[in-house]
Amino acid sequence: MAGLYVHIPFCRSKCVYCDFYSMPRLDRVDEYVEALRQEWAMRREELRGEEVTTLYVGGGTPSLLTPRQLERLLEVLPLIRVVEFTIEVNPDDITRDYARELAALGVNRVSMGVQSFNDRDLHAINRRHTAAQAVAAVEHCLAAGITNVGIDLIYGLPGQSLAAWRANVERALSLPVKHLSAYNLSYEPGTRLWALRERGLITEVDDDTCVAMHETLCDLAAKAGWEHYEISNFARPGFRSRHNSAYWNGTPYLGLGAAAHSYDGTTRSANLPHLRHYLEEIARGCVACERETLQWWERHDEDVMLRLRTSDGLDLNVMAARYGEEAATTLTAKAAPFVACGLLRRDGMVYRLTRAGIMLSDSIITALLADTP
Ligand code: SF4
Repeated sequence: MAGLYVHIPFCRSKCVYCDFYSMPRLDRVDEYVEALRQEWAMRREELRGEEVTTLYVGGGTPSLLTPRQLERLLEVLPLIRVVEFTIEVNPDDITRDYARELAALGVNRVSMGVQSFNDRDLHAINRRHTAAQAVAAVEHCLAAGITNVGIDLIYGLPGQSLAAWRANVERALSLPVKHLSAYNLSYEPGTRLWALRERGLITEVDDDTCVAMHETLCDLAAKAGWEHYEISNFARPGFRSRHNSAYWNGTPYLGLGAAAHSYDGTTRSANLPHLRHYLEEIARGCVACERETLQWWERHDEDVMLRLRTSDGLDLNVMAARYGEEAATTLTAKAAPFVACGLLRRDGMVYRLTRAGIMLSDSIITALLADTP
């Protein structure tokens, strides 16, 4: 069992907060799709015969690919055992016809970057859609038969009040969507958002309000019967993202495209985030990437970081089986003070973050990392 990720690094415009590898240009999309096909042909053996069960086309903005470009890409990919085929979309790309084309191509899950249901917020962060377009896009997906739709929201947008955020969450939960990802806005160097704050043109929402926003989100989602299954992710029962869950439990995956990452269980690789180099290297029959074989303590730390973020938690039996009894004993000792102060909960052999612990997850995870030999 393995996941396949395809990165589409193009966008129609750049959102002010974005530091993903994406660029506002469309002139090399055809060439890029051909390169992806070649990369798959060159690297498919890396999956060592594991069947691809989830396919995730992310970006950037994959929905700027035309149906024919997507079809050209999918022609060569192994779709036969794929149970979850997700594509990230921007609402303004989703017409009735485009949604039908996606469904015809086998897409059965859409992840939509909505970010806010407030048009003033959307304008301020340079999104190209309106709230009404987002709602219409969800309807188009459902009408086309893609019933598994997830949306992304951002909280802590400049000028956003707690009441405005609450209204956003209520709107999201009232829609016929199955999944909600919600991220606290972060200010990354090099983004326009960062520059606007530096120039004093926007004011950051304070930490206490962001904590209250997260609490509101958790309360409303729980009241509506949604599962809070990862720090930033909520789903109606039965609709967790299989692809992302596989990342969190260590399933191997292959990433195609500039800036895509891969993991085979022991080695990580990262394709260089540089479009021209990517295209040139593929044309030469190579992949420009950095590879790193993880030491046992690095795999241990990844397990701690990823599993503790999920509601399935960090299982001491799993850690003992993978890294030895001593590692599990050390973890137990390191976790004890956090259990005592209510930031971690121990259920049998499984540690989970409490609601209070989620807000301090970075420090808790850091404290549980392995002692490097
Ligand atoms: S659409 Fe997504 S990837 Fe593109 S600039 Fe906006 S946030 Fe970044």
